[in-house]
Amino acid sequence: MEYLSDRVKSLSVSQTLAMAQKSRELKAKGIDIISLGLGEPDFNTPDYIKEAAKKAIDENYSKYPPVPGYADLREAISRKFKVENGVTYSPDQIIVSAGAKHSLINVILSIVNPGDEVIILAPYWVSYYDQVIFAEGKPVVIGAKIENDFKIRPEQLEAAITNKTRLIIFNSPSNPTGMVYDRNEIEKIARVVGKHEGVFIISDEIYEHIIFTGEHVSLASFDFIYDRVITVNGVSKGYAMTGWRIGYIGAPLWIAKACNKLQGQFTSGVCSIAQRASLAALQGNGDSQRIMKAAFLRRRDLICGLLKEVKGIKVRIPQGAFYVMPDISFYFGKTDGETKITNSDELALYLLDKAQVATVGGDAFGAPECLRISYATSDDLLIEAVKRIKGALGKLR
Ligand code: PMP
Ligand code: GLU
Repeated sequence: MEYLSDRVKSLSVSQTLAMAQKSRELKAKGIDIISLGLGEPDFNTPDYIKEAAKKAIDENYSKYPPVPGYADLREAISRKFKVENGVTYSPDQIIVSAGAKHSLINVILSIVNPGDEVIILAPYWVSYYDQVIFAEGKPVVIGAKIENDFKIRPEQLEAAITNKTRLIIFNSPSNPTGMVYDRNEIEKIARVVGKHEGVFIISDEIYEHIIFTGEHVSLASFDFIYDRVITVNGVSKGYAMTGWRIGYIGAPLWIAKACNKLQGQFTSGVCSIAQRASLAALQGNGDSQRIMKAAFLRRRDLICGLLKEVKGIKVRIPQGAFYVMPDISFYFGKTDGETKITNSDELALYLLDKAQVATVGGDAFGAPECLRISYATSDDLLIEAVKRIKGALGKLR
C-alpha cells in the first residue's frame, strides 16, 4: 500500500526528462535514436572550467559551503549582472542554487501562497506550471500561437492580472520557442507590471548568451520595476554545464533572504566543486561561448531550412536558445494505416517509434499544436533526423 502525499500526486512527470529517459532506454537496447528531445548543449564543458574544478578538489573545497554560495562567486555574479545586464545586485541579493530549476522553486515557494494566481506565458517551459502547482498556487496561462511569433501582447497580460495575482513568469530567449522579446516589447511588459503593486515577475534569462539577432534585455534593467523582478540565471546553457547543477538569482533582498532560509533547511549551500567551476566559468573571456553560439546559429539555419521543406509543418525562425517549435497540427486526424495521430504527444511517440527521432510533444509546454525540437546536436544528425521525420510524416494520410 502506498501513502503518497497529495502534494506529490499533484505533480506531473517532467516531459522533457521523461522523453530523455525513454530515448536512453531505447539506445541501451541498441536502437539508433537521434535525440532532439532534451534541451542541453552537446558540447563538453570548456577545459578552463574543468581545470578549476580539479584544482578545487586538490585545494580541499570539501567542507559545507555558505548557504547562499561562496562570497567570491556571488561577487562575480554581482559583477556579471552589472557589466552584462546593466542591473545592480549586491552579493547579498544573490543566492546560488542547484540549477536554475532549484532557483525557480525557491522563489515560487518564497512568495506564492495557496490560491495566489501565477501568470505563465505559453508556450512555457514545462517545470513552471508544476512548480506553481507544487506551491499550491493557481497557474493562469495566457498564450500566443505561431501566428504571433509565440509572443504575448501587453494587453493580454494586463487583462489576466487580478487582485489575486502575485507572480508572472517570463522567459526570453524562450524555451520552447526560441523567440526573443525585443527592448520595446520588454519595456511594455515592464510597464504593465509596474502598474500593479504587489505583482512580481520572474525573468528567466538562462539562454541570454545564446541569442542570434538583436540584444538580450534584462527586465530588471528597467528601474521602475527593479524591486519587483527576480532575475533567474545559471551556467547550464551558456557554459555547457548542465550536469554541474549551478543556477542563481538576483532579487530584492527580502526574497533573497527567504530563499536563503529555504536552502538552509533543504539543501544547505550547493556543491562546493561546482561552485568553484562556475566562478571560473564567469571569469572566462567568452571565447568558448562565442564558439558554441556560432555552432547553434549554423544548426538553426540548417534545421529550419530543412523543416521548411517538410509538407504540413509551419516554422518560425527562432532568434535564440537552441529550440525550434514547429506547428504540426496539419497531421492531427491522419494515420499511416496503423497509428492514428490525434495530438502532439502521439505525434512525438509516432516519430520515436517510426523514425527513431526523439522530440517532445507541445502539450507539456502549453502548445498542443506544436512539437519541440532541440537542435543542440551535430549537423549530420540534424540532417538525418529531418530526413527520417519527413519519411515518417509522409506516410500519414
Ligand atoms: N529555465 C529554462 C527556461 C530552462 O530551459 C531550464 C532547463 N534547461 C531551466 C530553467 C533549468 O536549468 P538548470 O536547472 O539546468 O539550471
Ligand atoms: N531544460 C531542459 C529542457 O527543457 C532540460 C530538461 C529539464 O531540465 O527539464 O529540455
